[in-house]
Amino acid sequence: MTREERQLREAIIAKCRWMNASGLNQGTSGNISARYKDVMLITPSATPYDAMKPEMIAAMSLEGEYGSWTGPLQPSTEWRFHLDIMRGRPDVGGVVHTHSTYATVLAIARKSIPACHYMMAAFGGQDIRCAGYARYGTAELSELALAALEGRNGCLLANHGMIAIGANLDKAMWLAVELETIARQYYLSLALGQPHILSEAEIADTARGFSTYGLQTPKEKPAKAKPAKATKAAARQNVETKRSRK
Ligand code: 13P
Ligand code: ZN
Repeated sequence: MTREERQLREAIIAKCRWMNASGLNQGTSGNISARYKDVMLITPSATPYDAMKPEMIAAMSLEGEYGSWTGPLQPSTEWRFHLDIMRGRPDVGGVVHTHSTYATVLAIARKSIPACHYMMAAFGGQDIRCAGYARYGTAELSELALAALEGRNGCLLANHGMIAIGANLDKAMWLAVELETIARQYYLSLALGQPHILSEAEIADTARGFSTYGLQTPKEKPAKAKPAKATKAAARQNVETKRSRK
């Protein structure tokens, strides 16, 4: 195993532990995968994240026989949708699946999330769709998830949870957090009543803004002011003026 691959396996485990510690996920629910060259590295099934070691991560072929894998433990039961996403979307380098509470609550109600917040633009369109229900780990669930992910970076899974995808692991986890946040915000706005939904033009405009957001250009340093004699003289003059006013 190369140093690079080991680091990626360690990063997967760190993300798993972080998502449970942060409350985004719980127990052995959820799973994470990352692209490494021609394989997909994926968390093993039903393995507590605290006990997970880099060697336990399964490697699945992206181009070879569908479903073939290596490793000491069986890959996540959700390997199908992870693999189908990676195969179908070459731009995707990381996939995060969680059972986060608010996303799951909306998915239980079979509600897609409309553009209730401008952050929806980060998901690629006007909504985060809710995929129909199929039992966990099935090819049918993968098919439904991929349809819901069409042109999007995230989706809900009916009566189950959510999926967030990104160019790499960091981006996928960032979107998982954003998805849960927007789900919570939408849930609460529904409780308050009559949420206002942003238009397609408003989301498209936000997406344009995102293309430059975060590209900080260093601010030019102001030229150092010299403690010129003239300045001291002006200060003296100021004191004298104030005295003469008294
Ligand atoms: P695994 O432990 O097999 O990854 O399954 C967890 C899960 O979330 C199934 O949907
Ligand atoms: Zn799940």
